[in-house]
Amino acid sequence: MKNILILHTGGTIAMKEDKTSGSVGQVGNHPLHDSLASLHEFGNIKMEDVFNLPSPHITSKEMLILRDRIDRAANQEDIDGVVLTHGTDTLEETAYFLDLTLSTNIPVVLTGAMRSSNEVGSDGPYNLLSSLKVAASDEANGKGVLVVLNDEVHTAKNVTKTHTSNIATFQSPQYGPVGIVTKRGVSFHHVPINREQFNINEISKKVTLLKAYAGMDSSLLNVLKDMDIDGVIIEALGQGNLPPATLSGVKALLKKQIPIVLVSRCFNGIVQDTYSYEGGGRQLKELGVIFSNGLSGQKARIKLMIALNQTQEYKELQEIFFI
Ligand code: ASP
Repeated sequence: MKNILILHTGGTIAMKEDKTSGSVGQVGNHPLHDSLASLHEFGNIKMEDVFNLPSPHITSKEMLILRDRIDRAANQEDIDGVVLTHGTDTLEETAYFLDLTLSTNIPVVLTGAMRSSNEVGSDGPYNLLSSLKVAASDEANGKGVLVVLNDEVHTAKNVTKTHTSNIATFQSPQYGPVGIVTKRGVSFHHVPINREQFNINEISKKVTLLKAYAGMDSSLLNVLKDMDIDGVIIEALGQGNLPPATLSGVKALLKKQIPIVLVSRCFNGIVQDTYSYEGGGRQLKELGVIFSNGLSGQKARIKLMIALNQTQEYKELQEIFFI
């Protein structure tokens, strides 16, 4: 039997609905502790409550604590796989942070729930069980951090929350899941490529995220220039274009050596220096804007925050975002 560590961090999976008001909130004792007995057939289970936070309260500080806890479990405590329960709102960010920074290759699986523990059709216990199956499977080794909900296995890099309330919310647009969970077990049908690992001991860099829109100007970019920040992600239009009125703000940030990484506000495809008109990708690339290879804005933000701890060199950052 494998040794599996379950780490709870909070989220709807740890919450209950108040039947009179309909509001959903935190409870004292984690409801999934009650299901511990039924989980033992899947491995030798150790369970810990690391935090009890709704996921909008999670910051890079908590992400780093989780990274350290998982590395310690893998390297010093003979743990073969880890399941992490987490609120779904920022689950993909914690998953990608761990994917980029963990030193271990044991299976690490994040899961959550869209319905709290006492609601009809509560998906928490089922998702926990599916995640345990994945964390205990030999095939999950070396595939990077995985996200398991609603019978699907997704990579941390590609998965995103796509629906506010539907239990099929986690999808990997353009790529799809890498495996499925069935009653009999886990079946992988894709192998993720290009695993990246960064060796970091702290997160001290501040990176912010902006979304482009028709008629956008430089006002927000100019405010950012005067703030204490280390990098900016812009969710650009289409293939990687910005309205011409943003150019003075872009130039001002770059002049202050604040890196700008461009992603697209389209959730499929990658940004490229295709268009030569004013504000088009060609001009942005010539100015020194870094183009990201298919990441969402929130994932690019996590990556830049981590990468800036390692290098501030333009060329190196460009290579890191090309992968
Ligand atoms: N708002 C909740 C959270 O992220 C949503 C959830 O867990 O599903 O903590």
